[in-house]
Amino acid sequence: MLMNLHGLRFFIVLSLFGISITSCRKDPQVNLDSSSNPSVVLIVWDGIRLEDMINSDGSLREDIVPFMKQLSVKSNSFYTARFHHQGYTYTMAGHLALLTGQHFPVKNDMSGTAPVPTILHRILHDNQVVPEKTWIVATKSKICSLNNCEDSICQQIPVPSGMCGLYGVWGPIDSRTFQASVDVIKKHKPMFLLVSFSAPDIIAHTGDYEGYIKAIKQADHYTSQLYSFVSSLYEDSVMFVITTDHGRHDYDYTGHGDKCPGCTSLFLLINFPFQNNVEKLFDTYSKNTIVHRDLYCLTINFLSINTHHGFCDIN
Ligand SMILES: [Zn+2]
Ligand SMILES: [Zn+2]
Repeated sequence: MLMNLHGLRFFIVLSLFGISITSCRKDPQVNLDSSSNPSVVLIVWDGIRLEDMINSDGSLREDIVPFMKQLSVKSNSFYTARFHHQGYTYTMAGHLALLTGQHFPVKNDMSGTAPVPTILHRILHDNQVVPEKTWIVATKSKICSLNNCEDSICQQIPVPSGMCGLYGVWGPIDSRTFQASVDVIKKHKPMFLLVSFSAPDIIAHTGDYEGYIKAIKQADHYTSQLYSFVSSLYEDSVMFVITTDHGRHDYDYTGHGDKCPGCTSLFLLINFPFQNNVEKLFDTYSKNTIVHRDLYCLTINFLSINTHHGFCDIN
């Protein structure tokens, strides 16, 4: 079988999800050639407990996450509530897992740096683009510390771009993060952008359940606006991801950090830029548990990053 670059890329993606190529690949018509500048926008809603945004039948709640619900049923979207957190369920470790596919007991403050290169570092190393092509925009200051890493690869490249700590003087938390994200997208059109909305977690820690739910609604609204903006700007080249860094205790929504089901059950929504032949992928994928490595390897394959030999090899 002749396999062009598109086919190879899609083969890798399918294989990551354990799908036989003979059963589903003929001509996937995946619009992902090298000229399409594949980009990834990863939106993190900090510290969302799955049970707070779903109905008893598992469906997403229209009254809390209307945009996410709408996006989840699009033919080019994949949604699962079987995204399992196998590592440390606090903010720095959760964000690091999303950016590396691995779990490290990184410090949960400004001193928490990345022990291995993140996706942002790998893009800068592999594609040799300017640092403004990779961004972290976050409400919490400490998230930008993940742009610092000690690995030898990181010594060869500039530090990725970051804008963090965007709350306090600008009024309602997360609004400034939203605006900064828009500005970054408009000005730099990044190849990889992590946007982290922290209001749900910060408010939940204070014991204000209604405020926590309101903050989730607001994150859904900001994400909707970002999706519209990104879709119009990037056309058919962006993979848009919505997830959380960790859940919250089953027994106490004000806290998190252990391995209880509430802390480790995550949601994951991926909206792909291609329209065709993805249903089978989603059907098969949704039967399995997803882990951070799956998302990481999908992301670097989507972006055609080749520096991470071994970790994402297909078994
Ligand atoms: Zn968090
Ligand atoms: Zn817990």
